[in-house]
Amino acid sequence: MDAATFKTVEAQVVHWLTELTGEQLEQLRERFDRCTSLADCLAIIEQRGAAMRRCPHCQGDKLYRYGIFYGLQRYRCRQCTRSFNALTGTPLAFIRLREKWLPFLQCMLGSMTVRATATSIGIHRNTSFRWRHRFLAMAKDDRPRPLQGVVEADETYRLESQKGSRHLTRPARRRGGRASHRGIGPEHDCIVVARDRMGQTCDFVPGRGPVTAQQLTTCLLPVLAPNILLVTDSAAAYRTFADAAGIAHRAINVSTGRHVDGIVHVQGVNRYHSFFRNWLHRFNGVASRYLTHYLGWCRELDGGRITTPQQFLRAALFPEGT
Ligand SMILES: [Zn+2]
Repeated sequence: MDAATFKTVEAQVVHWLTELTGEQLEQLRERFDRCTSLADCLAIIEQRGAAMRRCPHCQGDKLYRYGIFYGLQRYRCRQCTRSFNALTGTPLAFIRLREKWLPFLQCMLGSMTVRATATSIGIHRNTSFRWRHRFLAMAKDDRPRPLQGVVEADETYRLESQKGSRHLTRPARRRGGRASHRGIGPEHDCIVVARDRMGQTCDFVPGRGPVTAQQLTTCLLPVLAPNILLVTDSAAAYRTFADAAGIAHRAINVSTGRHVDGIVHVQGVNRYHSFFRNWLHRFNGVASRYLTHYLGWCRELDGGRITTPQQFLRAALFPEGT
């Protein structure tokens, strides 16, 4: 709309607004929020489209615009002649109701449960659950740049959970169950968290049972900047990993009752473990297969890394770590 037309429209709209009742104004405000929420959402999605250089079907690089479909720019590939949009090939491709995406992500910023979110934005609770994991499927990879300086690493364990599964691979446990053996074993999901002193955090679920040096090489090594000092407890896996990778390493022997030795301590990462555990509590147990999703969600909320639904959507569409 050109500036002159807008001036005319604006004057007319303002004139009409003065004639509305309070209730009508409220209705209009809701409608307005819905429209701007959709426009905002589409604009962020299109940023991803504008950055696409290759066809998601065949990786061809001769693309051209091919009309608008459901509000999104459609592109076509000269090589395979198939069309696509900015969401093709992502977990968000087939989610409709885009005017509700940002309000939904606002609920996720508030760590709301599936049910509360469903009620708040007017979707079914199964939809609410499905959306949560679609958004987290990519956002979980939104990792910070390499960890710098002094990096604390430590692992924590959770009893594996098949919550929501129709086919248990073991006899059912009672609610809040216990492992069948003492200590850390194959029934425990291992969660490795590494955190530098600036508060940048990376987390991994390398597998079940005690963490191994090989697992640390696979998950931890790629996120460490050169010349870091790795600080851990005295578990042998960290020493073996650090020696093999040529990383400077100091260990604190917590079992002697000493938790801090100058800069050598793992209190930052242990605080993060308890923050995660407490935060997770509200969801009444989460399935092992979604553990990385919840870790990613918690990481986005930690330290105000993400504070608006728009940022959350960007993290879900173009995670930094990928
Ligand atoms: Zn193609």
